[in-house]
This record gives sequence, structure tokens and C-alpha cells, in this order.
Amino acid sequence: MAEISIIIPMYNESRNIHPIYDAINKVIKPLKHKFEIIFIDDGSHDSTIENLDKLADKDSRVKPIQLARNFGKEIALTAGLHHAKGDAAIMIDADLQHPPELIPKFIKKWEDEGADLVIGVRTDTKTTPLKRLTSGTFYKMVGVLTETDLVPHATDYRLVDRQVIDAFNQFTERNRITRGLFDWLGFQRTFIYFKARERKFGKATYSFKKLFHLAMNSFIGHSLVPLKMAGYIGTIIMLTSVPLGVLIFLDRYLLKDQFGFHFSGSAILAVINLFLSGVTLSCIGMMSLYLGNVNKEVTNRPLYVVRPERRNGNGNGNGKH
Ligand code: UDP
Ligand code: MG
Repeated sequence: MAEISIIIPMYNESRNIHPIYDAINKVIKPLKHKFEIIFIDDGSHDSTIENLDKLADKDSRVKPIQLARNFGKEIALTAGLHHAKGDAAIMIDADLQHPPELIPKFIKKWEDEGADLVIGVRTDTKTTPLKRLTSGTFYKMVGVLTETDLVPHATDYRLVDRQVIDAFNQFTERNRITRGLFDWLGFQRTFIYFKARERKFGKATYSFKKLFHLAMNSFIGHSLVPLKMAGYIGTIIMLTSVPLGVLIFLDRYLLKDQFGFHFSGSAILAVINLFLSGVTLSCIGMMSLYLGNVNKEVTNRPLYVVRPERRNGNGNGNGKH
């Protein structure tokens, strides 16, 4: 019988432990699968880990893991995936915003429809207008600026097959957005649409500052477009200043001001300056090409990921040596 790991990142979620545990327990009870429930305590300051330990004493399926400090949700999820032993893993938020009742639906799509990734997509618009605006702009910019096509409003509420977990565990990059990495991997995906609920207890810890960092990281991690833009602008500036310079040279020194432009000394300086700024900017653009190569090598992603037969136990077949 297939084993399924449920991964729950927790940052100061002490009060949500029992509600989420009870809700999950209720929906998985009728299922025939074997389960493990991995709680990742992401350096909480409240009594999250103590309560998790108590829960683990009562229920052997509960596996608490404590990170030494707050590393952020992306790393907490990664830690959960590293520790997951199941044939598939389901990631779900601790605050009950992701409805646990959908878990059987996720499993069904995986088992019956052969999906490697089942992705929860939010259909509600019940977030703050600021968050809606920023997330909309974010997805548009990512679409334009990067090669990774993020699915708008896709959440971290998702099921991933063992072969996807194994491929994911090969990633070594530090600045990571779990969702983005899964999107990079490909595999066979399907979607489940849901309305997110209000947070059960406490308030969201994903502050605007954290979200901004997340957005910046994904741009920098996935795209060189901003740097390349500097190069393009520089080239345009350089190319416009050259004819201007030639015109000044011809007019002043060869034709002895026959055109009657009377270029002043500062105009000549301005054109020289323009040319040099163009050179500098286009050199930055050139450097971005090298930087891009270095970045790709350092990130050391697998060259390719093959999709072995599902759950046939033949290893993960990644292209990394
Ligand atoms: N979380 C975490 N580490 C953090 C911040 C959040 O593990 O540094 C967890 C949190 O406990 C919750 C999930 O990530 O289970 C989503 O966080 P939150 O509800 O604060 O964010 P939002 O609902 O705005 O995405
Ligand atoms: Mg939340």
C-alpha cells in the first residue's frame, strides 16, 4: 500500500497544531494508505515544538523536525521533502487556509490519473488589495522576465510524486522558491481549484518585506533581463552618440562650420560623455552574459531530468553525475 507523507511547515503555529492535526486525521482515517505527518518547526518562538513532541508521543505517524532557527517557509518545505519517506508527499499550510478535505482528491488525481504533480490553485480573491496587486504584477513580471512559466495563483498546497521529490532533492541552490523549482522540473501536472479560508489562529508571518525578498530572489535566480537591459540601453546610447560625434568632427574640423551649427565646447563634451556612458553600460550588459554562465554553473542544476516509469523503484534517473 502506498505511503504518503504530509508536510506541514510551522512558524509560531502552536495554536493551530490541534486544529490542523484533527482536520487531517479526520480526512485520512477512511483512506487505506499509510501516512506520516511531518511537522517542520521553522525556529518558532512559541511552544510549537513542545506541543508537537507531545503529539508525537500519542501518534507514531507524527514526525516533528525542528530547524535550529527561522529559515523561512521555502527552506522548511525543502527540509520536509528531504525527510519524506512516502511514495508521494503533500505539502499543506498549518493555518488551515488550505482545506484538508481536499487531500483525498489530491491522492485520487495522483493514483487514478497518473499525475506526478497535483497543484492547488486559489480561485478566491479574498486577499488584501495590496497583496492581489503585488501578486498579479509579480506573475506578469516573472512571465516576461524569466524562462520559468509560473502558474498564476498556484499555491504550495500540492502533491508531488516520489520521482519528483527525488529530482527536487538534487537541487543545491540556496535562494529558492519551491514552487518555481517544481515548475522548472516539468513532469505531468494537474490542478485542483480551491477557495482559501481565513487563517485559523494568529496572523500571517509572510510580511510585505519577506514577500518582496521572495519576489526579488525569483527574478535574480531566474532572469538576467534587468542586466541585459543595461547592455541594450548602452548600445543604443553608443550608437546614437557616434553619428553625433562624426557630425561634430566633420562640421568643425573638415568643413569649417559650413553647416552653421556652431557646436559649443560643452556640446562636444556632452557627446563624448554620452559615448562613454554608452560604452560603460554596454560593458555591463556584456558582463551579464558571463555572469549568467557563472550563475548557471554554480547553481548546478541537473542537466536534464528524465521521467522514469512511475513508482517502479528504478531510482530517479537524474542527469546529474
Ligand atoms: N511559515 C514557515 N516559516 C516562515 C513563515 C511561514 O514555516 O518563516 C509557514 C507558516 O507556519 C504556515 C505557512 O508557512 O504554515 C504559510 O505562512 P503564512 O500563513 O504566514 O503565509 P500566507 O498564508 O500569507 O502564505
Ligand atoms: Mg496562511
